[in-house]
Amino acid sequence: MKLFSFEHADGVRPGILLEDGRAFDLTLAAARRAPNLAASSLRALIEGGPEALAAVSAIAHDPTGLEDASLDFPGLRLAAPIPRPRKNIFCVGRNYVEHVKEGAQANKIEMKIPQAPQFFTKPPTAVIGPGASVRVARAVTERLDYEVELGVVIGKAGADIAPENAYDHIFGYTIVNDMTGRDLQRLHEQWFKGKGLDTSCPTGPFIVTKDEIPDPRILNLVCRVNGETRQSAQVSMMIFDIPTLIASLSRGMTLEPGDIIATGTPSGVGFAMEPPRFLRQGDIVECEIDSIGTLRNPVETP
Ligand code: MG
Repeated sequence: MKLFSFEHADGVRPGILLEDGRAFDLTLAAARRAPNLAASSLRALIEGGPEALAAVSAIAHDPTGLEDASLDFPGLRLAAPIPRPRKNIFCVGRNYVEHVKEGAQANKIEMKIPQAPQFFTKPPTAVIGPGASVRVARAVTERLDYEVELGVVIGKAGADIAPENAYDHIFGYTIVNDMTGRDLQRLHEQWFKGKGLDTSCPTGPFIVTKDEIPDPRILNLVCRVNGETRQSAQVSMMIFDIPTLIASLSRGMTLEPGDIIATGTPSGVGFAMEPPRFLRQGDIVECEIDSIGTLRNPVETP
């Protein structure tokens, strides 16, 4: 199922897009079909666990009688699927070999493949949705860069999750653009500051439930700037795969429904090009992943 969040006069609401193009307001649809279900937001539905998922699935399979909850999807203004996550977005650094290589070359250091996943986070205030402007002042960073990443959305809480059970804890998948101020990343000698700026975490346009993506390893990721392809890779090229990331991150640390893990970016980022090419006023960044969609954001650098 393709789930999304959209701007409604009463605030941001959850919706579903069916394969035939019909879309439904899940707050209204759930009020008709499952009045006891908490359906005010996509996060509430994810937190509702298997019962909420079954109710949404029933709506998707038979939306008869829900005409008053139908939506004109092309006319909607989408928000990030989870506009304000409860916690920071978990991120993974240096998880594709070619990206590790290009980073080492650009920084003129020896290339070292990480021996364990490198985790950092982006604050909830960084999240924006599809179509929203990435707006970062030149006074803050002059080296703004893109990073297309597969986002894993947790559906079931757990700590010390074994790799073989990792997929049981996944709700679905989304796209994350891990926008980065490279000069800040360098200046502060760690990643949080340069990757935590307001509007630096475009997310969406959908969360696709895991049943529709039985093998995420075959998904292709692409990032285009003004239509020019900059990044193109497959999830299978990750150094640490999704089960390993979930097992490692959850060791002694509880993951909860609605948590998002951005799983790392492939090669082709702007700072590693010769000469480096950073984002400028008016650029359009598109991040596309098979089966999920395209996350498109204009860039403003006042
Ligand atoms: Mg990244």
